[in-house]
Amino acid sequence: MRRPILAANWKMYKTVGEALAFIEEFLPYTKGMDAVEIVLAPPFTALEPLARALAGTPLKLAAQNVAAHEEGAFTGEVAPRMLADLGCTYTIVGHSERRHLFGETDPLIARKVELLLQHGIRPVVCVGETLAQRESGQTFEVLGAQLDACVSCVPPERAPELVIAYEPVWAIGTGKTATPLLAQEAHAFIRERLGKVFGESAARMRIQYGGSVKPDNIYNLMAEQDIDGALVGGASLDPVSFSRIVRFDRPEEFQ
Ligand code: PEP
Repeated sequence: MRRPILAANWKMYKTVGEALAFIEEFLPYTKGMDAVEIVLAPPFTALEPLARALAGTPLKLAAQNVAAHEEGAFTGEVAPRMLADLGCTYTIVGHSERRHLFGETDPLIARKVELLLQHGIRPVVCVGETLAQRESGQTFEVLGAQLDACVSCVPPERAPELVIAYEPVWAIGTGKTATPLLAQEAHAFIRERLGKVFGESAARMRIQYGGSVKPDNIYNLMAEQDIDGALVGGASLDPVSFSRIVRFDRPEEFQ
């Protein structure tokens, strides 16, 4: 019922030339992969060339961030309308690196969600607890508060356009993946909370896991009932590694 969504977050890696070289090597691996949705989130500078390179393919483009304003005197920012103009289907908002390194708050993220939807772009809304919050038993309180604050501005009929990325901060870029059981527990909580906000639409909303996803752990994560995909950082930078992730249900191909 929910089409798996595998997304590459390249963060601040890859020049235009490197992004295009990735595509050349990666595209052949995506043949016949219509059952899954594959999304690439390059740096802003590579969005336009990738949009050209992906034209006519089923792969989708995502931005990694967006301004919380329509337009104006905001030096260095990129407006939602500009991303729509480039053909971005998705935009990541509330990534923990933006929350923790750039001071992004829930109300700011909520505004971005609202603006993206107004421009026909689907937000990928990241939520997740820090290690200290998990160790002090606050995980569900934190996830619930982030969800309530970031997505409650969305009308229920538009809720299925959202993707939620559960990304425990302690698992991002650390090599410490959440166990499938622990991730499933958080995803089930998130779906239940979405149900309180959006009612029946919650069953159609996709929830990705993010945090040190690799070719050798994706299969077991995807086997969990409420895990509908992955948001992948480090392991998405190499075309072979990411192709193994998108072809997670065919591990025999790579043996
Ligand atoms: C991320 O950037 O969203 C992420 C999950 O990174 P990594 O896969 O490297 O942990």
